[in-house]
Amino acid sequence: AFLSLDGLDGTGKSTQCRLLVEWLVAQGVPVTACTDPGGTPLGQELRKLLLFGREHRIGTRTEALLFMASRAQLVEEVIRPALARGEVVVSDRFLLANVVYQGHAGGLSPEELWQVGTFATGGAERLEPDLTLVLDLPPEIAAVRRNREADRMEARGADYAERVRAGFRSEVARRTERLRLVDATANVDGVQKIIRGEVAGLLRG
Ligand code: C5P
Repeated sequence: AFLSLDGLDGTGKSTQCRLLVEWLVAQGVPVTACTDPGGTPLGQELRKLLLFGREHRIGTRTEALLFMASRAQLVEEVIRPALARGEVVVSDRFLLANVVYQGHAGGLSPEELWQVGTFATGGAERLEPDLTLVLDLPPEIAAVRRNREADRMEARGADYAERVRAGFRSEVARRTERLRLVDATANVDGVQKIIRGEVAGLLRG
């Protein structure tokens, strides 16, 4: 099975990913965890360029394609082999983030981004998460929880964050089979409990 977590920065996504992986491992489920962007040596280079690069002015389309490139490599190098070994893959973000950040919030066409994402993840054999859990929180609360310095992306302001949240919510409403909204206002354990419930349901099939 292929799972991903997504959502606005500051919703606790990375912590929840880690706890989910620990729980699966404790139950003897073979797991591969990865981050998107990142997740491979090439992906790490692209991630650094995207988040902390100062010497280029990166346009929105270019930005989208660099995220896509990182993901294409991740699919080929990490996710497909892990799935072929019968493992559960847990990805910290995936294509949906592109659709929402560069699409709904950034002004590109969400539909076109789904299409480019199809190409990037394998064309006719495209790979998409069986389940994506979208952590949802009002941006004001997320901003307070995000207790680290803003990267280049996060410096984009409150309006942008509002559009990101709305974008996630509208994608979840449209793609109910594979996307689920998780209310992230509860504490870490409370949110993790909801996530484990969803994942257990999926793995039981
Ligand atoms: O969650 P993660 O640490 O991977 O996100 C890194 C940064 O990249 C965040 O600031 C996030 O908002 C941004 N991002 C983005 N477009 C994407 C994926 C992530 O702007 N497609």
